[in-house]
Amino acid sequence: MLAKGKIICIICLLCLIITAVFILFGRKSSFAEQSLPIVVTSSQVDQPLLTNSMQPNVIQTENVTNSGANSDNKSSVDTRFLPAAARNSQLKFNIKWAFGGKSQRGWYIYARLINHLIGVEASVDSPEFAAALARWQETAGLPPNGVLDEATLAVIVTYWQANRLKLRGYALPNELTTAPATDFYDPLRAEELRQLEQNTYAAYKKMVAAAVADKSLNLATDGRGNLAPTEKFLKIISAFRSREYQNKLRRETPNSGRAGLAVNSPHFTGRALDIYVGGDPVETKDANRAYQVLTPVYRWLVKNAAKFGFKPYFYEPWHWEYAPD
Ligand SMILES: [Zn+2]
Repeated sequence: MLAKGKIICIICLLCLIITAVFILFGRKSSFAEQSLPIVVTSSQVDQPLLTNSMQPNVIQTENVTNSGANSDNKSSVDTRFLPAAARNSQLKFNIKWAFGGKSQRGWYIYARLINHLIGVEASVDSPEFAAALARWQETAGLPPNGVLDEATLAVIVTYWQANRLKLRGYALPNELTTAPATDFYDPLRAEELRQLEQNTYAAYKKMVAAAVADKSLNLATDGRGNLAPTEKFLKIISAFRSREYQNKLRRETPNSGRAGLAVNSPHFTGRALDIYVGGDPVETKDANRAYQVLTPVYRWLVKNAAKFGFKPYFYEPWHWEYAPD
């Protein structure tokens, strides 16, 4: 009888232990299920963009995109351009040139624009890039050596500059419209600083709607195809500027040079927009521009802005001009 009672007691104890284990593990898994979506949601709200490129490194990125050049299906054309590719990987950082009264070093900041211009996605260090550049050089009347040297860079810069606004007249009052503060990087921007040319504004809104629809950009939206109030990317930093306002800006930054704040600014037309593409909004230091040109939003603009009539000012990743073909 005693032994039987002992066995029953042991069975009861085992049952209790098993029940306790089930309760504990059951709770644990239900916590895990609850906490996971909360973590994902909060991280999406706080850091909607740039999770992979908060610390961009130009050299690293070029190496990553270079992987295609090292694949097995190298053609004989690619091998021919190996020396040119090696030269380009030096020149992109070392070439000395001048622009806007300032000496410049390298062309790596403009790699995305150059890729787009010559119609090749391959890294600027690759023989594919050099081969595509050689084809482009031929059409431009340059020696087709695939090397992005000083002469080639000069022709490329001239081409980009020629695609910008041709007429730089002062906007007439009836050409301008006032955009809502929600379109601006600074939501408190004064009404008189929120004017821009009407067709430019319509094209800008179409472009933003297309960017918002591109889920790869992960832009925060208001649910109706507009940028959310919390989203900074693609918001307008500056649009139409009056002569008085431009002069005030020049007085505030007297050392910005010719490449900085122009006396005859394209912003007078109301067709030039400074758009937020990341980093310090309108800072021309190389490190800032090198950061900006790696953001997904800037890369998207390089590929898509022309469809909406916007042409880049190569030197300022944020400055885009409405100059449809
Ligand atoms: Zn600008």
